Amino acid sequence: MIDLKQYEVWFVTGSQHLYGPKTLETVAEHSREIAAALGASKHLPVQIVFKSVLTTPDAIRELCLEANSSKNCIGLITWMHTFSPAKMWIAGLSLLKKPFAHLHTQYNQGIPWSEIDMDFMNLNQAAHGDREFGFIGSRMRLDRKVVVGHWKEDEVQAQLGVWARAASAWADWQGARLARFGDNMRDVAVTEGDKVEAQIKLGYSVYGYGVGDLVKVMNEATESDIQKMVQEYLDEYDVVPALLPGGEKHASLREGAKIEIGLRNFLKAGNFKAFTTTFEDLHGMAQLPGLAVQRLMRDGYGFGGEGDWKTSALVRAMKVMNAGMKGGVSFMEDYTYHLSASGDKVLGSHMLEICESIAVSKPKLEIHPLSIGGKADPVRLVFDANTGPAIGASMMDMGQRFRMVANVVDVIPTDEPLPKLPVARALWLPRPNLKVAAASWIYAGGAHHTSFSYSVTAEHLQDFADMAGIEFLLIDENTRVQEFKEKLRWNDLYYHLNKGL
Ligand code: MN
Repeated sequence: MIDLKQYEVWFVTGSQHLYGPKTLETVAEHSREIAAALGASKHLPVQIVFKSVLTTPDAIRELCLEANSSKNCIGLITWMHTFSPAKMWIAGLSLLKKPFAHLHTQYNQGIPWSEIDMDFMNLNQAAHGDREFGFIGSRMRLDRKVVVGHWKEDEVQAQLGVWARAASAWADWQGARLARFGDNMRDVAVTEGDKVEAQIKLGYSVYGYGVGDLVKVMNEATESDIQKMVQEYLDEYDVVPALLPGGEKHASLREGAKIEIGLRNFLKAGNFKAFTTTFEDLHGMAQLPGLAVQRLMRDGYGFGGEGDWKTSALVRAMKVMNAGMKGGVSFMEDYTYHLSASGDKVLGSHMLEICESIAVSKPKLEIHPLSIGGKADPVRLVFDANTGPAIGASMMDMGQRFRMVANVVDVIPTDEPLPKLPVARALWLPRPNLKVAAASWIYAGGAHHTSFSYSVTAEHLQDFADMAGIEFLLIDENTRVQEFKEKLRWNDLYYHLNKGL
């Protein structure tokens, strides 16, 4: 469902006419070679397209306008092999609507000590050419990523890859449609927010539907659709005997299949990328969608429980960032704690909707009562999550701005088996520890819902937040509560003044 190869990053080199056609041709050759190497790098998931060597304000302006209107272009990588007086860039950069990364590199890796002459110096002058370009970015207060090092270096390519993944997610959000079945759940505060502001600032829009709209599509599922879907379940999961054909709860599995068929058809027909449900609002539905949500998330849809559209959008963005990488992305909730001498642990889960992309082994397809909501028992996939480093991120509407907060954690095996817990789950140690992580999270107003991933990193989220122009707060091994609180205060001031800076 998510194909990052559809996207292009344009590689753009700045220069000026001063150097003459021969040097400019060499600059173009070198640029083509670097763009090709980046395009072939395992770290870059998108196409890298060398555009041209830009030597005039008009050419720069035209290029930026072309990038804005290109459907596939998700951003620029800029590089000044030679010197490109940065006043030439003002008109273009002030119009540019796509993110850009400034690659501060040099064609030659080392200095050819015995050969170096003034021709070499004049060609390989990114050391100061890129500083001139950097000045205008800072003078214009443009958010961009600066990546420093030789272009063949693995770390340089990896950093550009992270940026390209964030840029892909950002492009994916622009014009994205989210479906919201039912409204916000009861009086929950953090799941609310300003959807108009989100559309202005973040690019996606949220469309509300009555559950009846979905039920109507569900009821259009044919017998052969249902049989086909049930067969997929039997092929893909360890299904408990009660749900098997002939089992006493098989009708519930068929009901689950009907929900999935309806949801899929609804989301496909409306070209939606993410959706929310709420268990408070299930008129005409026999059971809360569990299995269907888990499988739709696996296929790349964003999801948020209880009407949480911000988290559904974030799950989708992280699914895009994660495309093609090992380790999954799931909707998640901090559920309950294990406070112990071996470290205070968080058991993360949700009522049903954890994505199977984070499962450590083949999920079990089970049925259990929900114990709240008063509906029929929902079918769901039950599994333990992978172990290893992961990150949980959440987004809140703070009134004057959107804030993203993330915590780096280490997912560990559960102390003992959990034979009676009928939901998918992950157990983790937050970094640096629960006391610091949870206090910081709570001071930041972080939500109980997160988007949780093993492959998306703090760097992806930082790049993404910079593109969105929103606040990003990281809680990791270096976090101290007092400093974190001070950062919150300074950020309040910064974002308030930022509008006038
Ligand atoms: Mn929840």
